[in-house]
Amino acid sequence: MLRPCVVALLLLSVARAEEHPDQLAKTWAEAIENVNREHAKDPGKAREADLAARLPKPARAALESLLKMKDSAEFFDALATAGEASLELDLSSDFDRILARLAKASPDHAARLGNALSRDRLILRGMGGLDRPWLLKFAEVLEAILAAYDELYGFKEWSKVPGKKLRVRVHLEKEIVNPPHFAPQFPFHSEIDFPVADGKAFTSPTPDGKFLFYGLCHELGHVIAMWGGRENEEDHHAWAHYTGVTVVAHIAAGKHDFLKDLKDVKWRSLTLERESLKDAKRTSERDAALRLFIALHDRLGPKALGDAINWLDAQDKRLRINRVRYYTFKELREGLLATQKGVEARKAVEELLSGK
Ligand SMILES: [Zn+2]
Repeated sequence: MLRPCVVALLLLSVARAEEHPDQLAKTWAEAIENVNREHAKDPGKAREADLAARLPKPARAALESLLKMKDSAEFFDALATAGEASLELDLSSDFDRILARLAKASPDHAARLGNALSRDRLILRGMGGLDRPWLLKFAEVLEAILAAYDELYGFKEWSKVPGKKLRVRVHLEKEIVNPPHFAPQFPFHSEIDFPVADGKAFTSPTPDGKFLFYGLCHELGHVIAMWGGRENEEDHHAWAHYTGVTVVAHIAAGKHDFLKDLKDVKWRSLTLERESLKDAKRTSERDAALRLFIALHDRLGPKALGDAINWLDAQDKRLRINRVRYYTFKELREGLLATQKGVEARKAVEELLSGK
């Protein structure tokens, strides 16, 4: 049996280890990861707001202890780690407290951590010096895009892990080198990576001809559905283009103040695409896939596509790669036939998707 003073020493060393800023941040981050991992195994009906309540008490205590620590380089790094982790779950008020503490102690660290906004269906992160007013404007556009997708298609689930909010990471760069993209690698949520080069306003197209507004609408199409599989891109990249031009045109037909800065519809719209596809020289496989989506849109209405995808999601039998949802035209046909009851609509599905 250990003597009491040895026990006291051991306890003291354990307490000290736990009070180390790294360790506290790790406790916080690991607890968040565990909650996400358990949720991903069996998402059920839980929404992201419910998940925060599953965080164990010691994790919360660790964050409280961390926030009270004295300034040091190690402490700043630990706070930044804890801030990053907070956004893996929708803990934006904790993120804001961490950011406020960092802003006082080390503005450099705070600037690197960036800003975050949480909305009903998304968490927006702004990096590289995008301030809160900029993010608020961007969030307004993003929410209008989601509302347009609702009105047109009514997709039920935005994240590859049901219940999780969609993430959009916007970062200010000197120049946009890589276009916006759907980043499929995050284990527990869907995320779009979105570079911008103007930290004062969100305008599109950019002076060098980048269609950022259309790009955002397009990437959300990828988030909803990928086609084929790892080796075979069955839609030849036509789906996200189709939803992108459809959503751009839908929003442009409405009344939004931001439309004075976002003029993509002049070059990117469903009407223009439909016209352009009349060109007999457009014979690529991508053009064929695009014609198919537009024909389904025109004959059944976009809502039919949404219903079919929602039906397939409810079955949840189609391919997933890194949890990202992949569909085939054959499955789309199945989904449409399961949800379309009208004779004309079923006839259109058979005609357009026969042999798929
Ligand atoms: Zn794309």
